[in-house]
Amino acid sequence: MLRTNRAAVLSLAAFLAASSSSALRVRAAPTAAFALVRPFAAAREVSPPPPTTAVSMSGSDEVDKAIAASAPSGDDDPPTIFDKIVSGDIPSTKVYEDDTVLAFRDVSPQAPTHVLVIPKARDGLTQLSKAREDQEGLLGHLLYVAQEVGKKECPNGFRLVINDGKDGAQSVYHLHIHVLGGRQMGWPPG
Ligand code: AMP
Repeated sequence: MLRTNRAAVLSLAAFLAASSSSALRVRAAPTAAFALVRPFAAAREVSPPPPTTAVSMSGSDEVDKAIAASAPSGDDDPPTIFDKIVSGDIPSTKVYEDDTVLAFRDVSPQAPTHVLVIPKARDGLTQLSKAREDQEGLLGHLLYVAQEVGKKECPNGFRLVINDGKDGAQSVYHLHIHVLGGRQMGWPPG
């Protein structure tokens, strides 16, 4: 009786060992491999390409121009293209003008509405970061004119941009506010 039971246990153990070492293991292996491969394959499909310096530096002509432009030190520098627009030596499409401020259409529009608002006299305002305390009123007036242009041309909203210096991608060193609108803007800006 005891010998019969031992024989039965031994044959059951042999059966279980054979089952686990062949059929069950073969079935398990592909599942594990599939589980490892799928995340990498999925990641390759959805991951955006990593940003590179080359893309950010040469992504637009305007940025290239800005990087090439050197920041002038002040009003001793030669007149900018905007001084010539104010004097009338270079033509422009004006949308607003008063004694101190001029607004005209950008020659290379980046949106259906792209207007530049500038102080007529540069007076040291080569860039916003050169502003003096006594120019606060003028700066406020520039902003007021910019919103007048924006709300008139872009009733659904608009964006004001002031590029400052090389990293700000400024290419013309005469303070100007970009008024952009007429389409959905994205964020973050480039
Ligand atoms: P920023 O890069 O912020 O200095 O912007 C300078 C802007 O001036 C650019 O958007 C140019 O397209 C614009 N611009 C350059 N020359 C003229 C021009 N003659 N008339 C109108 N806009 C101009």
